[in-house]
Amino acid sequence: MSDFQSIGLAKPILRALESEGYTDPTPIQDQAITPMMQRKDLLGIAQTGTGKTAAFALPTLHLLATGAKKALRREPRALILAPTRELAGQITDSIHAYSKELPLRSMVAVGGVSIRPQMQKLNRGVHILVATPGRLLDLMEQGHASLRSVQIFILDEADRMLDMGFIHDVRKIAAQLPDHRQTALFSATMPRNVKGLADKLLTNPFLAEVTPQATTVEKIEQQVLFVPQNKKMQLLIEMLSDKQIKRALVFARTKYGANRISEKIARTGIHADAIHGNKSQNARQKALDKFRTGSIRVLVATDIAARGIDVEGITHVINFDLPNEPENYVHRIGRTARAGRQGVAISFCQVNERHYLKSIEKVIRQTVPVSNDHPYHDEQPSKNEAKNKKSHAPGINKVKMKQSSKSRHRRRNRNRRKKPKLAA
Ligand code: AMP
Repeated sequence: MSDFQSIGLAKPILRALESEGYTDPTPIQDQAITPMMQRKDLLGIAQTGTGKTAAFALPTLHLLATGAKKALRREPRALILAPTRELAGQITDSIHAYSKELPLRSMVAVGGVSIRPQMQKLNRGVHILVATPGRLLDLMEQGHASLRSVQIFILDEADRMLDMGFIHDVRKIAAQLPDHRQTALFSATMPRNVKGLADKLLTNPFLAEVTPQATTVEKIEQQVLFVPQNKKMQLLIEMLSDKQIKRALVFARTKYGANRISEKIARTGIHADAIHGNKSQNARQKALDKFRTGSIRVLVATDIAARGIDVEGITHVINFDLPNEPENYVHRIGRTARAGRQGVAISFCQVNERHYLKSIEKVIRQTVPVSNDHPYHDEQPSKNEAKNKKSHAPGINKVKMKQSSKSRHRRRNRNRRKKPKLAA
């Protein structure tokens, strides 16, 4: 493995890295920085937490700094597209930190906040623009951003971008880029649609790959707790009384659920807030800042809002609900154990979520250890398990099945009354 100095990064970047406390490149940085500095296209397969932001930001800064060109009005020289506002904000913060000794200007353009300051900044000229697709298209359509001078284009978290339905926006944006440019595409996973996009955007790309998608970060201690749905809240509150849980990110499947959980936690005197797609960008940023500075101990989030959250020192990720897409489990638990630290991921699993657990275990190719060391442990068999058992012991299971179908009916009615909104 090389060090930052021998890679040949410009001196002001090296000084900034030193003050950030980075001593050695992470594996994705080790693989990606040199080819990018050689102006090669790059396909980077890496999830958040691996140091992928610096992997593309450092060579981009190096190339722009050594090219030493003035910033052009409305025409950034590097464009970084990210799927969420939070991720775009974090990438910009990192770029500011790495470029603090360089005469390069960078900015973020995302929705949910006033467009006017973004227009003004672009009109004054920036070298690097970090943006979410929708706001970038607005700025382009209104004549405040043009992509004709882009030399370096980076598409971050391409898989999430497509999951969130941004494919048409990405295509529209890519169509405005000069043909002669350098492109890097980063993605945690490589499903067929991302591969198709990579084939269109990249020319002879160098492949940089770390931690294949299926291997969950090994440093994370994982546990699953079987618990009935109506006991999850009590379990969570009791669990949070443990002071070892210094900073916990709790995942809920719905926005409604995230609000409800954070309110209930806050009522017990624990500082908590929620972050989801129904909250304004300012409210989301405020909650994130409070979490980052430690003025709240618990942040409750939905999957999409949490995407890209890079908060240091998250000691615990708690899945109040299991994700229905197994890949999200990998993304969720990756919020802890960042940059080499230890972390704990605890999942609450009620009987109807057992099939989600099975799919997760298939994806991570591990069995998540069950912890029954809590007062609400409930090993009641899942629907399928009960069915299988029924064929062996009809007498006993007839009664159980009757009860469970009754309770299913009750639960269905209850859910109908509540009608929670889907997360975004
Ligand atoms: P990322 O995967 O880009 O979200 O980065 C995850 C975390 O790792 C961030 O908090 C970075 O500040 C940190 N980081 C990135 N590169 C290094 C490095 N070479 N040494 C130490 N920490 C790093």
